[in-house]
Amino acid sequence: MIINKKRVLFYLLDGARPDILSELIAQGKLPHLQQLVEEGTFRIATTCFPSTTGPAYLPFLTGQFPGTMNIPGIRWFDKQEFKRSRWNKMAMRSYCGPEAGWFNTDMPADKATLFDLLGESYNLYNMITRNIPDEYDLGKKGKNWLYTRAHFSKRHHPVDIQGHERIMGLLKSGKDFDFLFAVFPSVDWDSHYHHIRDHRTVAAYQIADNSIGEVRAHLEKKGWWKNTLFMLTSDHGLTPSHTHFDLGDWMTEQGLKSVGYPVIWRRNPQSAVMISGNSFGSIHLLNHEGSHALQQKEMVKHFGEEKLNGLLKQKAVDFIAYRGNKEGEYYVQNHHGKALISQQGTQYVYEPLDADPLFLKGIAVEGHRAALESTFNSLYPDALLQISQLFKSRRAGDIVVSARNGYDLRDFWEYPEHKGSHGSLTKEHMHVPLIYNQKGWAEHSARTADIFPSILKWMNKSIPVNEGDALN
Ligand SMILES: [Zn+2]
Repeated sequence: MIINKKRVLFYLLDGARPDILSELIAQGKLPHLQQLVEEGTFRIATTCFPSTTGPAYLPFLTGQFPGTMNIPGIRWFDKQEFKRSRWNKMAMRSYCGPEAGWFNTDMPADKATLFDLLGESYNLYNMITRNIPDEYDLGKKGKNWLYTRAHFSKRHHPVDIQGHERIMGLLKSGKDFDFLFAVFPSVDWDSHYHHIRDHRTVAAYQIADNSIGEVRAHLEKKGWWKNTLFMLTSDHGLTPSHTHFDLGDWMTEQGLKSVGYPVIWRRNPQSAVMISGNSFGSIHLLNHEGSHALQQKEMVKHFGEEKLNGLLKQKAVDFIAYRGNKEGEYYVQNHHGKALISQQGTQYVYEPLDADPLFLKGIAVEGHRAALESTFNSLYPDALLQISQLFKSRRAGDIVVSARNGYDLRDFWEYPEHKGSHGSLTKEHMHVPLIYNQKGWAEHSARTADIFPSILKWMNKSIPVNEGDALN
């Protein structure tokens, strides 16, 4: 038995907002987190774009962004594969259902996860399970049935409570661990189906808090706590939605018949629309020769200026983004006009052209950390890097739509109806809590991608090339 052995305990409170966590801590409703915050650090970090479950797990588990990992949505479409053969398994994907298991093989095989890099690694409920043996996947047994029942009955808490029991089961079994990654999904679900401040959502935060208290007490008794790095974060915030705008139906009404989940069988589609979260949408135009992702000139030509303006006039559409005509150039546009984002090497520039859709004035900085610092407290945190990383993936589509808070992009097919959503680049979706039981780490603005190297450094492991920077 190694004395002073280091361990990592990681709680992913899916959909937790830092402001709500602060409120609940101030109200004394999360006593165990309160203690952690007093002893350690509570800060805000940014997640990635799209700020959605699944892709937004990649930064902390792999240190890479969704564009780099080629998983730019919880649903995605690959024009090249679709045009090659429509019934091709790689043409499109939805991880909200039976295809969830393909997440593991959709990722590039050469990018390691923390599970690959940290000895005895246990997983609870996270869908990225590549190379995790069943006996290390604590939530696996009965997960499908439990999730389905929670989904259709809108009673989610049994999932989190069982998850906690599985963690305690492991700890009491006498087995040791190096890394334990536990997802508590109910804050996200309750925020989607009820409200971000509904009493059921608050209760979901409290289930996680109780779990932290009990697990901590157990580790303290064993003498393990003082060498355990405890971290808690989230993959995105959420905002309440009052209006649904179905982007896929709208494309069809415009004469560009769309396919999307679950209606993927339409004949002669002219577009594909993939929604994540549901405040993020990607549009893939199919009404053109070739199977490449379109840059501005071709996109405007095949979409049509009139339709483009029609889209921008929709109240639900906060802004759209698309590739510029040169490598590393991207446009962001709203109904007032557009701005240019450019990433050349380590230089990041935001330049309003006929408008300033992201309200950033002008920015020109050196390095991705400065790009984060310059936008961290803006309405669109980390916009420069996030838009650049996303379009590295051709699966990101020809046009990306970021919804205005209060709206989402999917109507009839969402059951049960969503009353909250995420996925956009707004601050309310991009800011996530980052709590850890340490003090004195770097104080510069943080991304969830920084968690990956921080954990490896804590465990004295070598750190593969990644898109984060260790905070410790
Ligand atoms: Zn989530």
